[in-house]
Amino acid sequence: MTRRAIVAANWKMNGDSALVNTMVSGLNNVELQDNVNVVICPSAPYLSALVVKAKEDKLNAAISIGAQNVSEHDNGAFTGEISTKMLQELSVEFVIIGHSERRCLYHETSTQAAHKVKAALNAGLTPILCIGESEAERATEQTETVLASQLQPVIDEVGIEKFIDVVIAYEPVWAIGTGKTASSEMAQETHQFIRQFLAKANENVAAKVPLLYGGSVNASNCEELFAQPDIDGGLIGGASLHVEQFKVICSAA
Ligand code: PEP
Repeated sequence: MTRRAIVAANWKMNGDSALVNTMVSGLNNVELQDNVNVVICPSAPYLSALVVKAKEDKLNAAISIGAQNVSEHDNGAFTGEISTKMLQELSVEFVIIGHSERRCLYHETSTQAAHKVKAALNAGLTPILCIGESEAERATEQTETVLASQLQPVIDEVGIEKFIDVVIAYEPVWAIGTGKTASSEMAQETHQFIRQFLAKANENVAAKVPLLYGGSVNASNCEELFAQPDIDGGLIGGASLHVEQFKVICSAA
């Protein structure tokens, strides 16, 4: 089955206007396979500049813009939050939801992630739902239980049929920003579990959902990871801040 592949850049709280410019210029001549989408997710203050620069430079239509977070609420007294409507107005197409840094540092729950996925889908945004286990959870063989507990509330909230418009990023917490990547075998085994878990609810949908791997992906390990049958691209943190490295990763998908 050919699924679309996605390489998403998560700049986290990094980058500046200069990076917006060099990334758009650099990606203008990147070689992408036909079914590959690239998504750049800068910090919120740079979304607008990125949209403008991408338009000015007539950036390849396969390259989209995403946000790193969104509120589950439509509007109101939620200081510091950003609504789906605000993202829509900026022509943002994707949004990362439930990143482990949001879960660990800001205590976001899977229920909250489920509400955010619902809000994003209702607004026509594509959620990149992040799930993943900690080092202790893997060591105690709880990986599958944890992943199931992160997925089930979202399935319950939006319904499995809506997952046709959802992208899932499997990001083992112990591999994020640590330089420790899951081996391609371990990543494939876990992606297969995720697909089988979705398939229990709907086989057809499960076969179509892009599953991205995230966690210290770089220009040297991307090819082997992306060659795995259930890995449909990656969510890239650190390496997405370096234009040449990121281009190699995009071309490997
Ligand atoms: C991430 O932040 O989603 C991520 C995968 O980071 P890194 O690639 O730096 O591990």
